[in-house]
Parts: sequence; C-alpha cells; structure tokens
Amino acid sequence: MARPPADNSNQATRCPKRPIIKAEHLRETPVKIVVGTGDKAATYHLPPTPLKVISPYFRACLSDEFSEGATNVVHLRDANPAVFHHFVAWLLRIHDLGGNLDRTKPLIGLWILGDSIMCEDLQNRAMDVMRQLHLEYSGHDWHASAGCILFAELASIVAHTCEGSELSSYAMDKIAHAMTRGLKLRELMKSGAYWARIPETVKTEIFLRYQHYVDLGSKDSDPAQGEGCRYHVHDDTESRVTSENGQKAGTK
Ligand SMILES: [Zn+2]
Repeated sequence: MARPPADNSNQATRCPKRPIIKAEHLRETPVKIVVGTGDKAATYHLPPTPLKVISPYFRACLSDEFSEGATNVVHLRDANPAVFHHFVAWLLRIHDLGGNLDRTKPLIGLWILGDSIMCEDLQNRAMDVMRQLHLEYSGHDWHASAGCILFAELASIVAHTCEGSELSSYAMDKIAHAMTRGLKLRELMKSGAYWARIPETVKTEIFLRYQHYVDLGSKDSDPAQGEGCRYHVHDDTESRVTSENGQKAGTK
C-alpha cells in the first residue's frame, strides 16, 4: 500500500502528523461525507485534498474509478458521527486530539475510525494521546483505572480490530500491567457475562503478558510510558526505524 506523500514542510514534527491545510484546499469543491445511518447520521462537506493526503481509503474512493469519485459523495455507514466530528476537527486543525478530548473511549473510537479509513496518522495520534492520558492516571491513586477502562472496552476493541492490532496489544499490556499494580482478577471477572465475551485467546494473551510483567519485577515499565513509535501503526518498516531514532526520513 502506498503511503501518503511525505510532509517535508514540517520536518520537525514527530510521527504522527496532520496534513497541512492550505487556502486553496478550502476553495476546492467539497466532498459530501455522510456518517452513520438514520436519524443520527451527520453530513460533512470537506475539501478532498487533505482527505486524500491522509487516507488511502479516501484516495481510492474519490478516484474516478469509483462511484463516490463521480458523485463526490461518500457514505461511512459504520462510523460514529460523534467520533468523526473529532477527526474533522483534527484534520482541519481546529484542535488537536488532545485538545478537546481527554477520555479513553472516544480515543479508542478514533483509532478504530482511523483503521477503517486507513489513516495511520490518526491512529497513531489517538494512541499517543491515550497513553499520555493513562500516564497521568498513574500519578494518582487511580493507577489501575486505565486498566479497568480498557478492560471495559476490550470486547469492543477485539470486535472492531484485527487480531494482533496495536490497539488490542496496548489494551492487553495495560490490563496485564494494572494487574501487577492492584487491579484484581476478581474485579475483572465480576461481570461473568462480559468476561465470557472475551475470546479465550485474548484471556491467555493477558495472562502471558501479566506473567511477563511479574517476571520483569522492578524493571517493568508502564505500557503508557515511553515515546517514539511504540504501539504505532506503520506499514513502512523503514519509516518506523527512522522515527524510533527520533528522526523522520529525510531529515538527515
Ligand atoms: Zn510512529
């Protein structure tokens, strides 16, 4: 899959990034995007270039080969209008994801939206903001609560992401880590029906990760800690390696 063109105008910015919105984009014939279905559907009119730059999905469906490209209308039936609203504000640089958004659930929704429209930058920004938020929890008594919140969202994460996704990997790590810091298994299992919805493979994975943190002992580090590309989605290994070295490709 081809990656969006490199944003050389803003080389100091670390992964992830938003496209630069230029005045001419706002003069483009907008694309009509209908998000959701029925009474709750929301309609947006957005400039096509930033959408195409950031998302191979939009790039493909707004090409002449697809009916959306001809009609200039895209339906995102499975997307959540409230989540899409945050994506639009981020895309148009009205505010960053961290700005008006400080809860785990909408960040998970943004990550899943990014997955469905193939927007890695949105997924990675949502992940960075979420980890930062959870790091702030760990300074308080609520240390285990990020693990609790993620556990409550785990069934939804598993249902909406591919096996081995970076989001489910982070959620499993964070839950396992919280179990070493006081999050009791019996608390997790309180809701028997919910626990039953979690696939066996995921439960096993959480126990393995828990064991890993126990083995690490004092050397363990909170999955929310650290910067760089940990838990990022990158289909381009080379760019991940350069970002992990704190440099974007092309800055050397
Ligand atoms: Zn990255």
